[in-house]
Amino acid sequence: MMSKTHLTVGIAAALAVCRPDDLGGIFAAVIGGAAGGVFCDAECDAGQPMRDALLGRLNAGGITAILLAADWILKTGIWAGILSQSAASLGTGLVVFMITYLIGRLCRHRGFTHSLLFVFLVSYGLFCFSPAIGIPALIGGLSHLMLDTLNKKPVPWFFPIGRGFCLQLFYANRTANTVFMWAGFTAGVALITWRLAGYIGG
Ligand SMILES: [Zn+2]
Repeated sequence: MMSKTHLTVGIAAALAVCRPDDLGGIFAAVIGGAAGGVFCDAECDAGQPMRDALLGRLNAGGITAILLAADWILKTGIWAGILSQSAASLGTGLVVFMITYLIGRLCRHRGFTHSLLFVFLVSYGLFCFSPAIGIPALIGGLSHLMLDTLNKKPVPWFFPIGRGFCLQLFYANRTANTVFMWAGFTAGVALITWRLAGYIGG
């Protein structure tokens, strides 16, 4: 699927599973879901036909920057959580995330980056920084693997074991992609509205 679809479905999946009950939790679910939705395409570069993956990373990065800034101003707890982590935890998170991500970038398309191992390691790296973001990132990453499994190219879930599998239901960039993108967007907006209503209503 295309990056906007991974982004909207990742965010919606993270909100649905995490069910955040305050503003900081909603921000963290959106950041984690967005990051998890796109980090599996780490190996896709900026060159043509992979420009979409770069766009996805820019979108997720923009959402993250805006919400982290909003958290800083509104003090919803994300920065406080990060700053309360020990130096050892932050260091471990940085090393695990960077090494896993860089190895992923060097691998072939839909290889290591589209595996449970990659998703768990990258999410663990983020978890060391912020458990509130790490868990939704894991859910976003799993949603990426599930969406790609619907396509016509095998997803190596259990890398390095086996060649992976796919359901061969849809092409990555046609009608189904658009349908999933809008379904994710609609579900994400509905879930944010629902969780915000619950938060405001007490
Ligand atoms: Zn993918």
